[in-house]
Amino acid sequence: MSETTSGQPAPQPASPGDSVEPVRGLSVVGVVKERANGEARVAVVPEGVATLKAAGLDVIVESGAGEAAWIGDDAYVAAGASVVDSREVTGRSDILLMVGKPDPQLVEELHRSQAVVGLLQPLVDPSLANDLAQRGITAISLDGLPRTLSRAQSMDALSSQASIAGYKAAVLAADTYGRYFPMMITASGTAKPADVLVLGAGVAGLQAMGTARRLGAVVTGYDVRPETKGEVESLGARFLVLTSISSGSGEGGYARALSADEQRAQQEELNAHIARRDIVITTAQVPGRRPPVLVTAQALDQMRPGSVVIDMGASALGGNVEGSLPGQTVRTDRGVVVVGASNLAATMPGAASAAYSHNITALVSYMVVDGSLRIDLADEIQLGVVVTYDGSVVHAATTAALLERSSQGGAL
Ligand code: NAD
Repeated sequence: MSETTSGQPAPQPASPGDSVEPVRGLSVVGVVKERANGEARVAVVPEGVATLKAAGLDVIVESGAGEAAWIGDDAYVAAGASVVDSREVTGRSDILLMVGKPDPQLVEELHRSQAVVGLLQPLVDPSLANDLAQRGITAISLDGLPRTLSRAQSMDALSSQASIAGYKAAVLAADTYGRYFPMMITASGTAKPADVLVLGAGVAGLQAMGTARRLGAVVTGYDVRPETKGEVESLGARFLVLTSISSGSGEGGYARALSADEQRAQQEELNAHIARRDIVITTAQVPGRRPPVLVTAQALDQMRPGSVVIDMGASALGGNVEGSLPGQTVRTDRGVVVVGASNLAATMPGAASAAYSHNITALVSYMVVDGSLRIDLADEIQLGVVVTYDGSVVHAATTAALLERSSQGGAL
């Protein structure tokens, strides 16, 4: 039987329904190589190894985990980690760190009393949480972090990744657009600055606005939450006010889901504003819901040929732009380029991995006491991030998402 570094026998794979032991005595933290298509990030960079070791944890890293982010195995060894193969990292780790969520094969390899930490998207995929709970796996998701708590800010992976993605969206738009972003006065003539509209003024949208401004474009920002006006204007962008919706502010600083009538009214009013822009970047999200459609096929038809639309919400479920496809660039019959940019942070794996590593190692260090993961659901941060524990889904919003899905007849 294989042994953990703490001398304990490696736990055996659990079957759903097995009795569950609480997480205790954890001391080996493993960094997996991401398996999702196009995912070039790694959960922990060599600098993060020191943080984990300072928290009393042994660190093992799957060989090649950092390769796509230009980090070789030797850099992890130099930082004090052991580099192992994939079987060993899943077999020996008490806590597995990842960027995304475990794929079905990795879920099969997990064993009872292990913990997984990543951006698990439990509100989008609550059935994964249910599966992990039944297997006795403790699931911890950085998506649920209470982001307005100042002591949680170093752990805020949603913000760090959204900020990188927003920056890249503006750079990608400039690269795709066949004209200048800034005004250019040359002996060969004068070029007007690009007119950029950013829909959604959360972390990604604000970063896209700031970057487009720095590139010299004229920028307008819009959000359904009127309280974002000041932030948009502080970047030197104009705030677009729509009369069809008074306020779309929801709980916790997020937007609420609009009713079908409100959405229709919003789309109709936005059409005229979209039509005269050179660039539209969409970043609108509502937690746990399908992204709202803000740019309809009709709006795309009214844009000038050569205009560029970057849909940061593009997903298999659909995005903010009608007809956009995740990971693909399409050109409409009218010559508008629509980029389905679903995972832009992964296209900057160096910066994104470094920031994510800072976030995940801060969270793990916070939750580890005397070298072991200590689950405490009375703690505000833990209440937000711990999704499954002791064989149950313990995260209220995920439980609600599971109930909603089962009431709609969906598989859990
Ligand atoms: P998000 O990714 O959930 O959404 C992006 C933006 O889309 C939001 O601003 C949202 O209002 C907007 N949106 C949703 N539906 C829309 C629609 N129909 N039309 C137009 N816009 C729409 O948001 P996020 O970037 O994760 O940030 C959410 C909130 O959390 C913000 O208030 C942000 O300031 C706050 N936040 C606070 C802190 C902090 O206090 N430290 C840190 C991070 C985020």
